[in-house]
Amino acid sequence: MTWHLSLDEMEKITQGILIDYGLNLNPKEPYPIPIEEIIEFQFELDILWEKIDHLDKTGDVMAAIFPDIRKIIMNESKKDLFEEKIGTRNFTFAHELGHWVLHANNQMQTPQKHDNNESIFYCRSGKGRPNIEKEADMFAGSLLMPKHIILNEMNKIGANKKITWKHLYKMQDQFNVSISALCYRLKDLGIVYIDNEQKIHRLDNVSGHLLFKL
Ligand SMILES: [Zn+2]
Repeated sequence: MTWHLSLDEMEKITQGILIDYGLNLNPKEPYPIPIEEIIEFQFELDILWEKIDHLDKTGDVMAAIFPDIRKIIMNESKKDLFEEKIGTRNFTFAHELGHWVLHANNQMQTPQKHDNNESIFYCRSGKGRPNIEKEADMFAGSLLMPKHIILNEMNKIGANKKITWKHLYKMQDQFNVSISALCYRLKDLGIVYIDNEQKIHRLDNVSGHLLFKL
């Protein structure tokens, strides 16, 4: 398939979901998006934990969604990882919701067929993933780290100030995401570039003016 959603289009979709759920997109401080509640109450999907390593023998299966029966299955074999890394767990939940919102009812997408002929999307970690996986990741980043809230934080730091790892670790903690998910998101939004030496370069101010306005 082709990459068909721009980042702006994705922001509109995720922002709509957050507003529908009644969340404040202009809070004093970033806060964790209640992703499990959004999945269960707003979209009425069930979340189950089962061992599903068999779905893909070639990669690490993290989770799967069965759209026909409105179920998200988290891989129980990865429960230790998910418990240790709440950020990864939240991102995986949001990624699965991304498949539901973006792909499940889209005729252009052809999910795999399971043994009993149910449709399924299963999701691996690692490289070489198809574009719908990247698109579900983009959805997850955009939902869990709303653009408005991030830009608000950038404005708090100040237009000419350096963004430090201290800022980023604080923000990842507030959003309850992994540091890599946050860095990816900031890069996607064109706010920072992190070089090979882990130096943070700020890209969002041009001659002292904030490029991004709320
Ligand atoms: Zn996936």
